[in-house]
Amino acid sequence: MTRITLALSKGRIFEETLPLLAAAGIHPADDPECSRKLIIATNRPDVRLVIVRATDTPTYVQYGAADLGIAGKDVLLEHGNAGLYQPLDLNIARCRLCVATRDDFDYAAAVRPGGRIRVATKYINTAKAHFARKSMHVDLIKLYGSMELAPLVGLADAIVDLVSTGGTLHANGLKEVEEIMPISSRLIVNQAALKLKRDLIQPLLDVFQNAVTGA
Ligand code: ATP
Ligand code: MG
Repeated sequence: MTRITLALSKGRIFEETLPLLAAAGIHPADDPECSRKLIIATNRPDVRLVIVRATDTPTYVQYGAADLGIAGKDVLLEHGNAGLYQPLDLNIARCRLCVATRDDFDYAAAVRPGGRIRVATKYINTAKAHFARKSMHVDLIKLYGSMELAPLVGLADAIVDLVSTGGTLHANGLKEVEEIMPISSRLIVNQAALKLKRDLIQPLLDVFQNAVTGA
């Protein structure tokens, strides 16, 4: 039997993907928030889910360990597009990628061309490209989480991070000073799998497309 594997991360992406799966008649057998299983069966014997770290989703799909995946544009920009077909913006897990600083930091003065700024982020490539476009020198410091702390303890002048409500920034005395881009999650498909398993994958793409456009 031919089978397809869809890679998802826990949290927002999983939750906001459930209605899309339901539209395709796919219902997971377990909830990854409760279960410790990393491979989750569905009501369809030819469809299974694998639960991966959000930043790892493109890697699983690129190598064909998963045929499809759902990943944020933030993650896809950092990872690059090698081996990945990106047919659909699912418009889920929406937020924005921003520059934020301490409330008392004069960002407007810091961003002049030729200026220098120290930025902490997990989005090294995207941040580098952003400040290069502004003709600025940037010292990048790679972090894996709790970015908001960095400007408060003098590790960096600014952070590049995802913001949705701004609540976390505000709670830590930070302000959003620039939006780099809006973010949403995209469907990604392994290019070889799309050719070899088109019978299974194409109907799923069609249902997702209709669910997204409200058709
Ligand atoms: P962790 O937070 O456990 O370290 P993570 O940061 O890798 O893991 P999430 O925070 O669950 O994972 O984010 C996964 C994806 O969800 C992100 O890549 C992004 O596209 C999206 N996302 C992150 N934060 C938000 C947010 N505040 N609002 C909406 N979508 C978000
Ligand atoms: Mg997170």
